[in-house]
Amino acid sequence: MRRMLHVLLDLVLPVDCGGCGRPGVRWCRHCARDLADAPATVRPRVDPGVPVWALGSYRGAHRRAVIAAKEQGRRDLAEPLGVALGAAIVRLRRWGELPAGPLGVVPAPTRARAARARGGDPVTRAVRAAAAHDRALRVMPILETARGVRDSVGLSAAQRHRNLAGRVRLRRGSGVPRGFPVLVVDDVTTTGTTAAESVRVLTAAGFCPRGVLVIAAA
Ligand SMILES: [Zn+2]
Repeated sequence: MRRMLHVLLDLVLPVDCGGCGRPGVRWCRHCARDLADAPATVRPRVDPGVPVWALGSYRGAHRRAVIAAKEQGRRDLAEPLGVALGAAIVRLRRWGELPAGPLGVVPAPTRARAARARGGDPVTRAVRAAAAHDRALRVMPILETARGVRDSVGLSAAQRHRNLAGRVRLRRGSGVPRGFPVLVVDDVTTTGTTAAESVRVLTAAGFCPRGVLVIAAA
């Protein structure tokens, strides 16, 4: 009976790997291994003034997972993406790049309307999944973009900068002390504009940004 139910559910809700399309599994071993590579330092054109690390390049499993989570509503990918981000943070701590104690994890700002349309922000979901496995992490969704910011898809570097300059702002009430170490997390970095604006706003608000971690560097 239970097996039959599973078969029926699979018919209704077909699953395939969010990284490679392999059928029957939400996230396969091969893609998990791809995502578990050590984080690499990247140098975006716009320097945020703190190190930027990426789990990988914007291709293969990384690219497909980001698109599936963001555009195709694959909420179930928050867990594998969160686990990969969490493992990268553990490594960065071990390398002395991030503090061993409490660390605020700040999802990069998204346009509220775009996030709502997609049923929530996939980056915030992924960092929540990471924090569920790591008590030192404190998820701080305190950044937002002001009205008038367009989706950055298809914009040039200069357009991205004009689009975002001065438009990232702090939501009120983070409730953490000044100087608290924070890590900005985003799905993709291209020009580095979002990361740089986020770091600038967090620094101005008295936080201590220690770096930026992205799932994929384009
Ligand atoms: Zn896969």
